[in-house]
Amino acid sequence: MHDIVIVGAGPAGLTAAIYALRFNKSVLVIEKSTFGGQITYSPKVENYPGFKEMSGNEFADLLVDQVISLGGEIELDTVSSIAPGKVTCESGNVYEAKAIIIAAGSKHRQLGLDNENELVGNGVSYCAVCDGAFCKGQDVAIIGGGNTALQEAVLLSDICKSVTVVQNLPTLTGEKKLADQLYSKENVNIICSSVAVELLGKEKLTGLKIKNTEDNTERVLDVETVFVAIGQVPENKPFESVCTLDNYGYITADESCLTGTNGIFVAGDCRTKAVRQITTATGDGAVAAVAACRYVDSL
Ligand SMILES: Cc1cc2nc3c(=O)[nH]c(=O)nc-3n(C[C@H](O)[C@H](O)[C@H](O)COP(=O)(O)OP(=O)(O)OC[C@H]3O[C@@H](n4cnc5c(N)ncnc54)[C@H](O)[C@@H]3O)c2cc1C
Repeated sequence: MHDIVIVGAGPAGLTAAIYALRFNKSVLVIEKSTFGGQITYSPKVENYPGFKEMSGNEFADLLVDQVISLGGEIELDTVSSIAPGKVTCESGNVYEAKAIIIAAGSKHRQLGLDNENELVGNGVSYCAVCDGAFCKGQDVAIIGGGNTALQEAVLLSDICKSVTVVQNLPTLTGEKKLADQLYSKENVNIICSSVAVELLGKEKLTGLKIKNTEDNTERVLDVETVFVAIGQVPENKPFESVCTLDNYGYITADESCLTGTNGIFVAGDCRTKAVRQITTATGDGAVAAVAACRYVDSL
């Protein structure tokens, strides 16, 4: 039996491991695909305090090294379900734990276009807060018309030469105040009833082809970067029997990252929160680990 089993080796899970190990707890981290989580897809991170610039992979390697050097165990497996004190994996392995921390992250919803994965970091981004500063003076497009897309468009309009918002519906669906702000900006162009159909360019994005859904006409936008802001997808299915999920599928928790079930905590992008960044994920990891350690000590 481990003191604490952590689901997910992203910034939240690995930070939780570091804190729990430094409280002298035995810790197992189970990761299904990439040690380091989604930040490994980012070629350049410039907003993590203390590091002027690093790649997502460099950051992930540092975290993994730190966990291993403190004596943490990391297993490659997919958690299929959890119950209080028990974590079951797709491989058939079952791990017992005094406390469990879910740090399974979330995924940015993708456009599903050819070349999309290849162009991430080379003209395709899912996070204007993260990557907007790299696009200073560029012509950019942002796909989406909800609050996230509109907030990101406002942010980008202060940095970029021009911002084209491409929305599939006939109107923007985000807050009116944000929409009004965008309509009043000279360097923002809003195109509704249109969908992205092709990302142009092989090693680097050279443009975006869009199609009008009312008359089927196509046109190419000469943009250097496309920001995709069409929502995020949490992967919380394996946990829904022990946690309460909000309307969007995120796990709800209190200030100490405790879910509705004693001994089960949640940290990072998979939980209900306003800002999904490395700083907030690592912050959650620390809070959840301290709460989990106190819970283990109380048993
Ligand atoms: C391209 C890109 C660029 C970004 N740039 C920045 C940036 O510059 N600055 C910034 O602050 N943030 C950035 N972010 C956001 C940042 O990466 C996330 O906020 C952060 O990684 C969240 O950490 P997390 O640990 O909560 O989740 P994740 O990083 O998503 O890690 C969760 C881990 O859990 C694993 N997992 C999920 N389900 C299971 C399961 N059932 N069993 C086992 N393992 C499971 C996943 O495989 C994953 O590795 C970027 C994101 C992307 C995609």
